[in-house]
Amino acid sequence: MVRLIDVPTLQRFVAQRGIERVLAELADAIEAAYARWDEFDKSPRHATHFEHGVIELMPVADTRRYACKYVNGHPGNPQHGRMTVAALGILSEVESGYPILVSEMTLLTALRTAATSALVARHCARQDTTTLALIGTGAQSEFQTLAIGNERPLRQIRFYDVDPTAMEKYALNMSEQNLELVPCDSIEQAVSGADLVSVATAIKDRQSLLTPAMLHPGMHINAVGGDCPGKTELDPAVLPECDIIVEYEPQTRIEGEIQGSDHQVTEFHEIVRGRRPGRLSEDSITLFDSVGFALEDHAALNWLYEHLTRATDVDLIPDAHDPRDLFAMLQPPTYGRAASF
Ligand code: NAD
Repeated sequence: MVRLIDVPTLQRFVAQRGIERVLAELADAIEAAYARWDEFDKSPRHATHFEHGVIELMPVADTRRYACKYVNGHPGNPQHGRMTVAALGILSEVESGYPILVSEMTLLTALRTAATSALVARHCARQDTTTLALIGTGAQSEFQTLAIGNERPLRQIRFYDVDPTAMEKYALNMSEQNLELVPCDSIEQAVSGADLVSVATAIKDRQSLLTPAMLHPGMHINAVGGDCPGKTELDPAVLPECDIIVEYEPQTRIEGEIQGSDHQVTEFHEIVRGRRPGRLSEDSITLFDSVGFALEDHAALNWLYEHLTRATDVDLIPDAHDPRDLFAMLQPPTYGRAASF
């Protein structure tokens, strides 16, 4: 049997556990996975590109479990009432190769992406970070806010989106939080005075949303939306000003802000494993060039499998009486036998 976690099941689980707790537990689970970096069989994700978007498969495995996520990135979708990012996940036992979990992964991706941003902030952002600037207040934005708020004592959120309705939605969703919400008229205004800047826009183009003039010493930048060839968010002149942290260099060289450049980077596992400092000095500018790595999905799916045990088990893998007699399962007389399994 395969455990099936659909959207309502995940919604109930997160509501019962509390979203801040879920984000904190996911950050810890992802950190534990990065600490076991050498145990994983890793590769850049497989991307199929279309003019208007991308569909990707993200496999990774340790010796016990194999995980794979199906995810898209279609920046034009919201204009047609659909999400930019939708995903499904699968988790299998390596020993038999049998799947044990199939899960919705759109909500889980937003949770794990925010948890990863927060985890990197745990290691790289200044301890006295109190002001977060958010550029792009789409689907990921509230998750980013709450997760980063778990790690640093946020007091003020300065936010900007080209779409005023996205800003209204964000303000409404965050209105119950104990945060000063400051809607801004431009990126410059949002970034001004911010200790941490999270950029999560969705445009399939090379953009220059953050420029060197907007940087100031001690800042941490969390660049979430530049995650595909030809889709970046930062002025390339920002890169030499920053200490750049990436998830998995071979994938980020293809998809991240550093695509097509030879800037030196630090892989995040080096920081988690204590081989490199997260921040060299209080004045350093750190940049997390986030693209989303399969290891984070592996950690999230395993965490979900261990904690969400009250879900439906479904017959997705045939349970043949004789494993070499699959054919018999499709013969009319065997329906009775199948029912008595
Ligand atoms: P979304 O479409 O829901 O939101 C994007 C928002 O950005 C929209 O509200 C849009 O109006 C706004 N925007 C576009 N151009 C802007 C600009 N110039 N200035 C300010 N705002 C602007 O998308 P989402 O689900 O929130 O995802 C955001 C980005 O993050 C996407 O590019 C997605 O591919 C990426 N993403 C990355 C990861 C990762 O692990 N790194 C995971 C999930 C999503």
